[in-house]
Amino acid sequence: MAKATASKRKFKSELTEILNIITHSLYSNTEVFLRELISNASDAIDKVRFEGLNNDAVFEENKDWQVKLSIDKEAGTLTVSDNGIGMNKDSIIENLGTIAKSGTKAFMENLKDAKSKSLPELIGQFGVGFYSAFMVADKITVISRMAGDPASAVQWESDGQGEYTIRDAEKETRGTDIILHLKEDAKEYLEDFKLKQVVKEYSDFIEYPVVMDMEIEEDGLKGTQEEVINSQIALWLRDKSEVEDDEYNNFYKQISSDFQDPAKVIHYMGEGYTEFNVLMFIPSNRPFELQFGDQKFGPRLYIKRVLIMDHCEALLPPYLRFVKGVIDCPDLPLNVSREILQDNPLLGRIKKNVVKNILKTLAEMKENEYDKYLEFYNQMGDVLKEGLAQDFENREQIADLLLLQSINTEKGKYTTFVDYVENMPEGQTDIYYLTGESRSQIENAPYLEIFKDKGWDVLLMTDPVDEFVLPHFQEYKEKALKAADKGELESDIEVDNTEQKQQFLPLFETLRKKLDEVKEVRLSTRLKDSPSCLVSEEGAMGAHMERIMQQLGKADEIPQDERILELNPEHPVVQTLQRIHGLNADDPKVENYGKILYDQAVIAEGSALKDPADFTKRINEMLIRDAIQS
Ligand code: ADP
Repeated sequence: MAKATASKRKFKSELTEILNIITHSLYSNTEVFLRELISNASDAIDKVRFEGLNNDAVFEENKDWQVKLSIDKEAGTLTVSDNGIGMNKDSIIENLGTIAKSGTKAFMENLKDAKSKSLPELIGQFGVGFYSAFMVADKITVISRMAGDPASAVQWESDGQGEYTIRDAEKETRGTDIILHLKEDAKEYLEDFKLKQVVKEYSDFIEYPVVMDMEIEEDGLKGTQEEVINSQIALWLRDKSEVEDDEYNNFYKQISSDFQDPAKVIHYMGEGYTEFNVLMFIPSNRPFELQFGDQKFGPRLYIKRVLIMDHCEALLPPYLRFVKGVIDCPDLPLNVSREILQDNPLLGRIKKNVVKNILKTLAEMKENEYDKYLEFYNQMGDVLKEGLAQDFENREQIADLLLLQSINTEKGKYTTFVDYVENMPEGQTDIYYLTGESRSQIENAPYLEIFKDKGWDVLLMTDPVDEFVLPHFQEYKEKALKAADKGELESDIEVDNTEQKQQFLPLFETLRKKLDEVKEVRLSTRLKDSPSCLVSEEGAMGAHMERIMQQLGKADEIPQDERILELNPEHPVVQTLQRIHGLNADDPKVENYGKILYDQAVIAEGSALKDPADFTKRINEMLIRDAIQS
């Protein structure tokens, strides 16, 4: 017999804080606790089935998979039992006493801005599911026994106030009982009809039967009868025509923990080289984890309805990581390790097929439900865009999904690559873009002057990711993509300025020597109104990228003195400078004007001056001179 040793332990500090919030806030919707517990129970059964693939002993001849809800009205308790994997002392401390999961940290960060109304959803979202039971219980007792280890039974108990106790226990069968001592105001969960309603609503599709002893009355005699209260059909295996929207929505909320309906459902059976069932969802909300970057993604992978992996990254490219769902492929081998499975070539083929279908669905949504697509795009477009760099094969299709701002497109409206190319006037052969922090920051940039003059459109790319993906996306429909602030434009706009170049050469040579920050001073063909601008060599780092690098704390990786100062030969300031230089190349005004023109170009590209005081001083000196003369 097990020793009755009991020990008191403290929750890890963040957990105490979370429990405090859970127990002391009032919720509009406490029902989600049951969804969380049933989902944990179902996961525990998935796990033991998975273990059993290679080790039959863990089953202990108990394969009658089920989750059972039991009510004890006198004691005021609701018990959720499963015959899943169970926990021993170590794993129960690890799982129910510690918060080591990154999701929970994210939860804590989000709590700061969350309104109390959305807390239950947040709880689900970040996998603090079990603790949500403290919304309805003032004490929780967990009795668990690990699969294949009859001596491992353990009891965990807590009132959610910062401490829990652990003691050895006895349990006849494998699995876990979660006993909730219900709070006074949560006694409705002692009613079987209430539980049935909640299970139907949130957990109907759970693969295993959720059973309960329902009260019945026959011939005036009261009794109970065990009843299965969920339909337990794996939704992805059902025929599309038989599934209601509500069922899809509930299922989506369960697997994603999003609390809004998805924007799109993708449900089909793939055939050909292998058979597989796909049920995927395009969310309407940006999933929280996208913000946190390093989260796992990919659909749940089932093989013959046994859950193999929560996130199978081999089935989805990173740029579609906002897509949630399930893929079931009966032809995959069950009894290999997950690592080996990830390399199975079948997965690559399924992935290809799934990607095609997702892109097709997005294209249809854009075509037929533009407003909905716009909402989706505003939330997830920047992630989708990464595909231009990641997915060579589908890059044009991905490009066609992008909604783009441009100088010829009204603010708040969008153009596309297709429209851009279609509207290119005669003489324009390439696609131009300019990157920056925001439309307002770049739409009046000097680089755009020649384009505006010619009526050529320029795409205004303002997502940080643009800087990283556009260099990989070099052409669309055989038209080269070019940054408007890089390289030379002479050949593009067909001007011959050889003579002018000769005239200005001595001035530019002097300026280059005086201005340490630039590697070259040259004649500009892109300026119409402004006297100067700074450009980069084609393929070199631009001003926007430099600012991003600075924000990322990588200033030391920015190449120094690589920029080119371009001057507008038609501008009176440049012409005056040319005159002064012609009279006396050593006139201090040459350097003075040159520095001002350089600083103006820095301001115009949206960067910060290295020495703003010097700039103001020079300008003021000029103003004073002007004032004296007049
Ligand atoms: P999540 O389910 O999101 O991981 P929970 O707080 O709900 O977070 O549960 C924490 C962990 O406790 C689970 O990951 C699981 O390992 C364990 N656990 C919870 N309920 C059970 C159960 N019924 N059987 C076995 N393990 C469980």
